[in-house]
Amino acid sequence: MSKVKTYLNYINGEWKTSSSGKTGNSINPANVEEIVGQYQMSTENDFSKAVKSANNVKEEWRKTTGNVRGDLLMRTATIIEERLDDIAETLTREMGKTLPEALGETARGVAILRYYAGEGLRSIGDVIPSTQQDTLQYSTRVPLGVVGVITPWNFPVAIPIWKMAPALIYGNTVVIKPASEAAITCAKIIDCFHEAGFPKGVVNMVTGSGSLIGQQMVEHPNIDGITFTGSNKVGKEIALESVKTGKKYQLEMGGKNPVIVANDADLDLAVKATISGGLSSTGQKCTATSRVIVESGIYDKFKDKLIEQVKELTVGDGLDSSSWMGPVISKSQLDTILYYIEKGKEEGAVAIQGGTKFEKENSNGYFVEPTIFENVTQNMVIAKEEIFGPVLALIKVDSVEEALNVANDSEYGLSASIFTENIKNMLSFIYNMEAGLIRVNEESAGVELQAPFGGMKQSSSHSREQGRAAIEFFTSIQTIMIK
Ligand code: NDP
Repeated sequence: MSKVKTYLNYINGEWKTSSSGKTGNSINPANVEEIVGQYQMSTENDFSKAVKSANNVKEEWRKTTGNVRGDLLMRTATIIEERLDDIAETLTREMGKTLPEALGETARGVAILRYYAGEGLRSIGDVIPSTQQDTLQYSTRVPLGVVGVITPWNFPVAIPIWKMAPALIYGNTVVIKPASEAAITCAKIIDCFHEAGFPKGVVNMVTGSGSLIGQQMVEHPNIDGITFTGSNKVGKEIALESVKTGKKYQLEMGGKNPVIVANDADLDLAVKATISGGLSSTGQKCTATSRVIVESGIYDKFKDKLIEQVKELTVGDGLDSSSWMGPVISKSQLDTILYYIEKGKEEGAVAIQGGTKFEKENSNGYFVEPTIFENVTQNMVIAKEEIFGPVLALIKVDSVEEALNVANDSEYGLSASIFTENIKNMLSFIYNMEAGLIRVNEESAGVELQAPFGGMKQSSSHSREQGRAAIEFFTSIQTIMIK
């Protein structure tokens, strides 16, 4: 057996062991005996050093021109592209999604870097007429300073990049705390930033306990803004603390994303998109389809076709090319999903497909069967709470109007789809659906990198990430008057 590699923190342009002398193991969820790598269990001292290094160079970085910052992002993109296979394989080993999904995500990371490289030369303000003579009035954008980045395990390449790339291009320095369960993939991404030649201190990474480092991040006086993706519970704690310490914050959190299938939907398209949106990445996307709200006229046909196709899905190690769906991330995530499945059964929903742990021969991983429930009603727990696993809840309704009421009956408002050929249905959905991402004849999961991403209601702090919208969080507006 090959020796397990230990990955270090990245502080002030150097790889450093933690002052704790302790490491954590990152486990392969498809084979829990495999340790993918060891990451540093960092201390307050390590984190303080990272913030100090980011703070020391923030003025210098702010003064660099956009094209210089853009060149560095471009170089990072090229290096990631050269290492695409290795990074994607690590992602699959560490997080579980299938290799094609991991390759796609890593390529997405490259594209995001290239997109933001161009931002370095785009307009950052407006000229505003003054009511006074001989006066120039304009607005510009200035960086926040040091940005703390807290990322989850479900997109361990794309999310760190879609937060760090805009932070950097708009002139901020960064300290990232990645999810422990995906710390090795993040270390490999940070190494690409290192190789690209970012000045010392501009990019820093500290791994370890979320509650410890995260808490320090919100309390630290030299962190000026925090961008977070993860659970609602942690997100709200970060918001409360950020208000107390006067930091700007941005939260992307959960979803309970509905898909409406109208009587006139293209059946094949609706089934395909429900499977892809709900079950790819093992349902572990914040935009994953969770509630499938189907009009009664098409319900039986849709259900039969959905089951027929879900039965064909193969579950297994994401590195095995015959697997369509990989494991879930961890034992605790597996237990959570199984808890929700039992809760659904207790409350009277019927598991018409799957509904149990998936026992894979010669394998010791966290597998669960793709699961479909029917007879689900709005008030059931499985129709309300985020499961974050491959579980679909079918809800039968008598009209698109009723479907919309059901779809909006949620504390979340991240993403929502409708399948229909009818323009009236489409427009009614677009106008009435309370979600940040509205999709027509398209799966609920995903967004293009150049478009704003984020949710309404409890799904976010109402800010948006990605595309040009990212400038809103990562900068402050200054209004200038020259007489
Ligand atoms: P968490 O919110 O606990 O973790 C997300 C990130 O926050 C990780 O980097 C974590 O570090 C860090 N963190 C944990 N505790 C704190 C804290 N007190 N202060 C600051 N940072 C902290 O999510 P989980 O990974 O535990 O997943 C739980 C549930 O959250 C999932 O089942 C799913 O419902 C939801 N989720 C939603 C995601 C989304 O994309 N919207 C992504 C991931 C999860 P560490 O890993 O070291 O604990």
